Amino acid sequence: MTSTASATATTPVVETSVPITVIRGDGIGPEVVDASLRLMREAGANLDVEECIAGAEVFKAGDQTGVPNATVDSIQRTSVAFKGPLETPIGFGEKSANVTLRKMFEMYGNIRPAREIPGLATPFAGRGIDLVIVRENIEDLYAGIEHMQTPGVALSLKVITHHGSEKIARLAFEFARSEGRTSVTCATKANIMKLGEGMFKRTFDEVAADYPEIEARQILVDNAAHQLVMRPEQFDVIVTTNMNGDILSDLTSGLVGGLGFAPSANIGSEASMFEAVHGSAPDIAGRDLANPSASMLSAVMMLRHIGQPAVASAMEDAILYTLEQGTSLTGDIAAPGTAVGTTAFTDAVIGNLGQVPTTGERRASRPMVMPAPGWRPKPVTVTKREVVGMDVLIEESEMTAQQVGQKIEECTQGSPLRLQWIGSRGTKVYPGETEDTEMIDTWRCRFLRADTEATLTDDHLYHLLSCIGAKFQWANIQKLQEFDGVPGFTKAQGED
Ligand code: NAP
Repeated sequence: MTSTASATATTPVVETSVPITVIRGDGIGPEVVDASLRLMREAGANLDVEECIAGAEVFKAGDQTGVPNATVDSIQRTSVAFKGPLETPIGFGEKSANVTLRKMFEMYGNIRPAREIPGLATPFAGRGIDLVIVRENIEDLYAGIEHMQTPGVALSLKVITHHGSEKIARLAFEFARSEGRTSVTCATKANIMKLGEGMFKRTFDEVAADYPEIEARQILVDNAAHQLVMRPEQFDVIVTTNMNGDILSDLTSGLVGGLGFAPSANIGSEASMFEAVHGSAPDIAGRDLANPSASMLSAVMMLRHIGQPAVASAMEDAILYTLEQGTSLTGDIAAPGTAVGTTAFTDAVIGNLGQVPTTGERRASRPMVMPAPGWRPKPVTVTKREVVGMDVLIEESEMTAQQVGQKIEECTQGSPLRLQWIGSRGTKVYPGETEDTEMIDTWRCRFLRADTEATLTDDHLYHLLSCIGAKFQWANIQKLQEFDGVPGFTKAQGED
């Protein structure tokens, strides 16, 4: 697709054509993507479109990933995808094609702006909300590592790495810089998850030192949710872990008018993908009813990312102007009896190219400085690491904590390890009185070396484990280590 045929006198001229992969998607996807492509063309974007497929039709054809090789190859070639929503059909394939694409291309950063839409009546209208959530997109509970410990106990692993935390913190600051924003707030639950969320928080502080012109703030995520409803205008960029970001970004979409207006970018080192936050809305698909604003605003983000910022701003102005005028609105936001269809709304936006909304300030924007392909954060190193103990998760439903404790203590005879405590769901239940704690059938037994100068070997751990295994069902073990003398594990509730 090139711009020349329909460019107007005010259309920015973009000399170089940029190849992009377009996936029209399922449900309302083709309608909103086509509307966005039309607008991009009319606004002067210079794009070479490679159209590919993913989603429902691919699952139905028997491909369990939902993403055929030809689509993967195309994104590898173009490194930019513009995408409609993809269904995960029930009964065909288990994995979401969206998640497959994000993981396949290590799209580690999900950027979701929430900006007051001029003319849109919401409970927060007039507050000047203009914030961005930058969500880590790969790690955390979404790594999808879960295990049943017993038939009634599940563990979902929350994976946070220094590597992932550094990449997302840098992305947040680079994004803030590219838009001339003045603060980045790191939202975590580091007061409870001191190691995982704590590492995210500490890594953010390290990275912040490289961006001295941007104010770096910390907030607990529960307070962030509260503050976002009480005083959302105080926020500029919020960076956060995957699950926190999932929840907060839906909240912030709600502040400014909902899914019809929520664009997003999935940023990776090798490829990035731009799409509306909403799904395929099958109930209104194919009926010219969908609001294409979120998809169009995602196209705006893409054009800024690929170096066509003037076209992006012209499009953004035209979309916001059209919404501000309020005379051509889709059914999700129009006054009863006044709605226009997807096509007519798109016509109106195209007709308004060159217009500027009267309210809201346009953000300065320049492309983000992205790490060079292949760049990786430096691994964290320490000078001294020592194995100091082991946690063993055992299953037992009949005995009391005292009985379990006594049996386990028998296994430490002759071992350099001693039983420190037994815990149930993070609370110490042995040694000591435990009448107030409700027991389940899974117990964590913590062993530490009796002599802090002793060297523990794997054989010491195996020996202890085989004794425990002869008395109880065990489901899980965890080596306990110290790094430069700092324990790499948390204490139990109730432990001194
Ligand atoms: P959804 O497709 O976002 O739709 C929920 C409702 O929101 C729709 O029924 C419609 O409500 C309204 N809506 C959403 N987008 C709209 C738009 N552009 N214009 C007007 N109204 C819009 O959520 P869902 O029903 O939970 O999911 C449907 C499918 O989409 C599922 O298969 C899901 O897996 C998939 N999905 C894909 C993505 C993605 O590809 N990124 C994201 C989310 C969901 P009314 O009833 O008011 O018309």
